[in-house]
Amino acid sequence: LEYKASEQRYDNMKYNRTGKSGVLLPAISLGLWHNFGFIDSIQNGREILRCAFDLGITHFDLANNYGPPYGSAEENFGTILKQDFKNYRDELFIATKAGYDMWPGPYGNLGSRKYLISSLDQSLKRMNLDYVDIFYHHRPDPNTPLEETMGALADIVRQGKALYVGISNYEPAETQKAATILKELNVPFILHQARYSMFDRWIENGLLDTLEDNGVGCIAFSPLAQGMLTDKYLGGIPEGSRAAKNMSYLNSDTVNSNIEKIQKLNDIAQERGQKLSQMAVAWILRQPQVASVLLGASSANQLKENLKALDNLEFSSEELKMIDGIVG
Ligand code: NDP
Repeated sequence: LEYKASEQRYDNMKYNRTGKSGVLLPAISLGLWHNFGFIDSIQNGREILRCAFDLGITHFDLANNYGPPYGSAEENFGTILKQDFKNYRDELFIATKAGYDMWPGPYGNLGSRKYLISSLDQSLKRMNLDYVDIFYHHRPDPNTPLEETMGALADIVRQGKALYVGISNYEPAETQKAATILKELNVPFILHQARYSMFDRWIENGLLDTLEDNGVGCIAFSPLAQGMLTDKYLGGIPEGSRAAKNMSYLNSDTVNSNIEKIQKLNDIAQERGQKLSQMAVAWILRQPQVASVLLGASSANQLKENLKALDNLEFSSEELKMIDGIVG
């Protein structure tokens, strides 16, 4: 059946400015790291994407190697874009990245100009796109001069293959260096993509300040700590969950070592009249530098449930103190 987007899609979403740029991002974005590869059901992926857009999620996040197999999330996304979203391209903000291993040999990984430019060309073909809205260097490469990596991002923008650029997983000092180079090159550097959740607060130690100083926004990935910050693991490890699949960095040992904290946080969420997942999202959005929370979802229902986070974004100082007491 042909897809027609909901007329109400912009009624309830909140849009935040990304750093000092002209770009507004939905407070909640969708990532395609898991659940969109050839090993997954494309019909489920299509439902998640339709549901997302109907709810005002305009930002979809990919990378060259999302799948498995590598490249297949982009290919599936391209298929769905062509079938469902061809009339909505200009309403979408699409991201891809390169920086982790993608193809064999010395040119399919890290941060050379050779790798980044050819990888983006491949990504555009897989997604059937002329350009992406933002292209990221996915992780720092300590052995390639930063001038080379940032120079490649600059040329990608000049060639019209990306409108904006970003970096991911860079420490504060590296981020500052990248920002300085990109400013000299006149490149619109608007986003840093970083892991951030109640279970991983590293960005509070300098990165958020560095981003603020440079007018760059933050988008927070793995906001639910891959599902731990939901009620799904409270009664054990359900079959089919990410921890049960053991194909990611999340496994049953990690869940078990955190379960007491999860229970305590779940109690606070209940007091607030929220699900734990909703509190986890709201807690991230309290940071003014964070433009968007980048969620994953294995079903459309999860996404719908998580979006209700926006109904209660306020925290009392007592609640924040209690959370600090649990997660440090
Ligand atoms: P999350 O922390 O949001 O984890 C998502 C997973 O949590 C879902 O797939 C689902 O897992 C579970 N979940 C979500 N909602 C619920 C709910 N309401 N109830 C129960 N379980 C729920 O994020 P991800 O780790 O998936 O990361 C999000 C995105 O961030 C990625 O898709 C990617 O785009 C980006 N990313 C970027 C990285 C980088 O280096 N730049 C690294 C990692 C991610 P289940 O399968 O168990 O149902």
